[in-house]
Amino acid sequence: MRQYELVDRVLSYNPKADESLINKAYVYGTKMHGVQLRESGDPYFSHPLEVAGILTELKLDTSSVICALLHDTIEDTHATIKDIEKNFGKEVAKLVDGVSKLNKFENKNDYSKAAENFRKLIIASSSDLRVLLIKLADRLHNMRTLRFLKDKNRRKRIARETLEIYAPLAARIGMHSIREELEDLSFAETEPEIRSILFERIKKSKKRNNKIVKDIEKIISDKLSIDNLEVKVTGREKTVYSIWKKLENKNKSLEQLSDLFAFRIYVENLFDCYKVLGILHNNWQAVPGLFKDYISTPKKNGYQSIHTTLIGPRNRRIEIQIRTNKMHELNEKGLAAHWAYKEKGNANDQYLASMAWISDLVDILQRDGATEEFLENTRLELSHEQVYCFTPKGRLIALPSNASALDFAFAVHSDLGIYCSGVKINGEIKPRRTKLVNGDEVEIIKSRTPVPIDTFEDIVVTGKSKSTIRRTIKENKIKNQRLIGKEIIKSIFSSHRKKPTRDILERSFGPLNVRSLMELYEIVGRGETSGSEVYDLVYPKTKRKKRKKRFYGKDLSLPISGLLPDMSVRFQKNSFLIPGDNIVGIVTPSEGITIYSTSSKDLIQYEDNPERWLRLNWKKEIDVTFTARILLSIINEIGALGSITSTIADYGGNITNLNLNEKDTDFYNLRIDVDVNDNIHISNIIQSLRGLPVIDSVERILI
Ligand code: MN
Repeated sequence: MRQYELVDRVLSYNPKADESLINKAYVYGTKMHGVQLRESGDPYFSHPLEVAGILTELKLDTSSVICALLHDTIEDTHATIKDIEKNFGKEVAKLVDGVSKLNKFENKNDYSKAAENFRKLIIASSSDLRVLLIKLADRLHNMRTLRFLKDKNRRKRIARETLEIYAPLAARIGMHSIREELEDLSFAETEPEIRSILFERIKKSKKRNNKIVKDIEKIISDKLSIDNLEVKVTGREKTVYSIWKKLENKNKSLEQLSDLFAFRIYVENLFDCYKVLGILHNNWQAVPGLFKDYISTPKKNGYQSIHTTLIGPRNRRIEIQIRTNKMHELNEKGLAAHWAYKEKGNANDQYLASMAWISDLVDILQRDGATEEFLENTRLELSHEQVYCFTPKGRLIALPSNASALDFAFAVHSDLGIYCSGVKINGEIKPRRTKLVNGDEVEIIKSRTPVPIDTFEDIVVTGKSKSTIRRTIKENKIKNQRLIGKEIIKSIFSSHRKKPTRDILERSFGPLNVRSLMELYEIVGRGETSGSEVYDLVYPKTKRKKRKKRFYGKDLSLPISGLLPDMSVRFQKNSFLIPGDNIVGIVTPSEGITIYSTSSKDLIQYEDNPERWLRLNWKKEIDVTFTARILLSIINEIGALGSITSTIADYGGNITNLNLNEKDTDFYNLRIDVDVNDNIHISNIIQSLRGLPVIDSVERILI
């Protein structure tokens, strides 16, 4: 195509078109693309020119045609949107910008995964749906020239994308002829062998059937040649791809399909459609169940036609479509046809036209059924409430419509939000609270260290942002408490000339009910426990300065009140009772008094002899020690024993016996006899032992 051809074409359907602006765009595009070549060896500019040509077939307005000429300049040359706006106005610039954004997205490698997002994006970013038409024309020309690409994988990928995204998209907006061409071109790339086999077979059967088709055409035309009825009857060609699809879906043989004759009848007005239908049904038997009136009830994408199947002339089964010429144009061009002729000088008119068009599409999508869907109603509704933005690398991020640039950062990666020191939106530095709009490209400026986030919650809207901010604030607070707690403990201990080592501090875990050093620091940092409380727990004041004598039972009198004079006294055999324990005496006349723990099971035998029971109490001041027995289950670990014995010693316990048994490979049973003052003393020791990480369990043995 040449420059003057393009201008002529536009003028043919729009005599008022701005000829000079089209010429200017032609020159601009040629200059910008310069000596760039396509892989076919053609000058690069031949591509935008052909795309513009496709748009003239759709009779699109001047702005669209100009945009087509410029559509690759942003991506592939050093042209800028500002430059284009200066030269061609806001409207063109906006269109070029929209197409460039789609281009950017398209060039990603993991495209197929992003297909669903891409579809959403198309809807969301095509606030002006001409962007979509230009994109489709762009893709159509690329498909027409696909064979020139040397990279086979790339060719296959592009063909697959076309089948998965662009062809359904064209179908959705009713652009039937573009859809068919896209499908067939893709098919030629993805299944070359099948296609060429099919193609040959179809050609053969066409040849065979050619005479029959002509005959039937003639017979039908004759029947319809009555006064005031202008009709055109043609045999309808099916594309190889559509036949292939039918073979796949309907499980029919190629012969069955190619022997099925299809005709189309074009008339001038709507009433003639029904007139033709009446004549046909009057002459030939209609096949029940195959009659469809898409004129009174159009398809979701706006398609209008009457479909019927007849047992027609020569007893052939024939498919017939009846439609007006106008309907046909709409069926083939879809939404593009709605746009055609709409160009007026008035900018406001244009705006309204494009708005009406959007609502057309929205309408179509909303009326759409569940089958062969690519945008469900719910999804579409969602897209009204969402903005779609890009990362600089073209990743699509969907956010609620009132989201801020900071939300974007949290959506990309929660850490990114915490490190977000600023943002660039479409290349310009903006505040982090800036509300995003569809198509924004957002770049997060990342600081090396976390930024202050105390006020962040006010400028975000998504749940993800809010929860990440709250969690981070909480974590920061705890981190602070730990630092403070650690400092407090350090200073208290150093005032006593002691070092708060892990081993030492662990003794406080049991009494304070914490499980780690961090937790200990936290509760001290929060002020729940003071530093000196911790100190007192690990270096208890109960520690005796002078060693008490040990009670042996013979030489010393028992510090127990309530005993009977002149009666010998002993503890129950193998018991380890100490001051503070609940005790009772049992009198045996010839032997004396035996002291039991009140919890001893052996007391059952004396239940019927209450007269033998003696109430006993430990005295208040006791200056001897008693032996308590504890049983520990400890982790089999070097140093475990050391930390246990030193803890007991620091608590003022005196170990008199120690017995170690292997329980299994991971645990030992450790039995320790320890001399203590009373049962408060031993329970302090037990509690501090329980805090040690090497301890699995500790219990006291009374008997
Ligand atoms: Mn292009």
